[in-house]
Amino acid sequence: MEDQLYGGTVATAPEPESVLLPGHDVPLGRYTTVRRLLPQRQRRMVGAWCFVDHFGPEDVTGRPGMQVPPHPHTGLQTVTWLVDGEIVHRDSLGSDQPIRPGQLNLMSSGHGISHSEMSPADHPAGLHGLQLWGALPEEERSGEPRFEHHAELPVVRDGDATLTVLAGRFGSTESPAGVHTPLVAVEMVVPGPGSHRLAVEPTFEHGVLTMSGTVDVGDATVRPGSLLYLAPGRSELRVEARGEARVVLLGGEPFEEDLVMWWNFVGRSHEDIVQAREDWMTGRRFGQVSGCSAEPLPAPALPTVRLKARDRHGRTVG
Ligand code: MN
Repeated sequence: MEDQLYGGTVATAPEPESVLLPGHDVPLGRYTTVRRLLPQRQRRMVGAWCFVDHFGPEDVTGRPGMQVPPHPHTGLQTVTWLVDGEIVHRDSLGSDQPIRPGQLNLMSSGHGISHSEMSPADHPAGLHGLQLWGALPEEERSGEPRFEHHAELPVVRDGDATLTVLAGRFGSTESPAGVHTPLVAVEMVVPGPGSHRLAVEPTFEHGVLTMSGTVDVGDATVRPGSLLYLAPGRSELRVEARGEARVVLLGGEPFEEDLVMWWNFVGRSHEDIVQAREDWMTGRRFGQVSGCSAEPLPAPALPTVRLKARDRHGRTVG
């Protein structure tokens, strides 16, 4: 039985499930390779977070850096968090916004938006960041597109750790980023070895990744390139840093809707995706990105089989 894949039978109340998920490398644009940590086959989501890409750290001296030409989105929010480098975001609302280390870009697609993400020609030497997607709930996915840039985010100090609240609420601290479901994203930077206790919302499921450094959480050792999934039912996480580390905690209320994710689209059915693809290829719905000289990305061919809606565990429905 699938339910027994990860746990044994124990006499006392079991710890909530915890699974270390290895990511895989994926090319993004022509010049960047990312570590994709979500979605995975057996774990599609952590709360509403349905997509987690970690890029860098890499030295892009003499190279183009991030070069992702105009492409569409529907049914999701993109959250870009940069710790090194520079990327210019342009979108079909007319936004033209550089993002620099310590800043957050948040784009809600609503029904449809298109954007490009390109390092400028005179970019810094490094490139290091995260891009997350949050699935929009049914009542938001037909809404208007929106873009936000946050140059300042709330910071909490805990001993020698510096915690930045990227999205949602962490304890009594709330990010200004506008989100659509109960969720959280927090970055914790620690300067050296040490133990840190993080109070978390018990009804949330969580994911822990490191952008640099190694941490132990329970029995799991988390290094860059993997994501530790933690089921709901905990009020505290104990994170043991083996040295300097940059840790990201993601979380949220388990997302109950079944989704179809294909290319840059999040929908509810095969028909949703077919329509989105057709709208992009025929110049409808997603607008145009002005100020970006790169040609828009064509959508790949659809698979020959129908796309199936899946729940957050990756199970198909019906
Ligand atoms: Mn995008």
